[in-house]
Amino acid sequence: MSDNCIFCKIINGQIPANKLYEDDELLAFWDISPQAPKHFLLIPKKHISGPGAIKEEDEQLIGRLTRKAGDLARENGVSSFRLVFNEGPEAGQTVFHIHMHVLGGRAMSWPPG
Ligand code: AMP
Ligand code: ZN
Repeated sequence: MSDNCIFCKIINGQIPANKLYEDDELLAFWDISPQAPKHFLLIPKKHISGPGAIKEEDEQLIGRLTRKAGDLARENGVSSFRLVFNEGPEAGQTVFHIHMHVLGGRAMSWPPG
């Protein structure tokens, strides 16, 4: 738990979210501003500020999160999807609690903007 972290507040119930999955380590909820027909965020309940702050001790947790992203995408009818972690403001990070974007339901272009 980190003070003033919006995603920690979602985890502890202070802020509502449209959840699609939760267990003791992970939480997934639909993005409030979806950038694709299917767009949800998958986060660890442990506060890690971003992908650049993953420590060796977090490797199993982030590996599990990544596997869960694919499982949840498929369970929600998405077989082709994009997984995105943003690190730092220049990359577009606005919430400093690590989150994987899972985007699907439309064709994606490359390179990303
Ligand atoms: P990023 O720009 O990579 O840090 O992504 C942050 C994401 O969190 C954005 O896609 C926002 O739309 C999303 N977001 C912010 N607040 C909420 C919220 N309360 N519930 C759901 N998604 C949110
Ligand atoms: Zn947090």
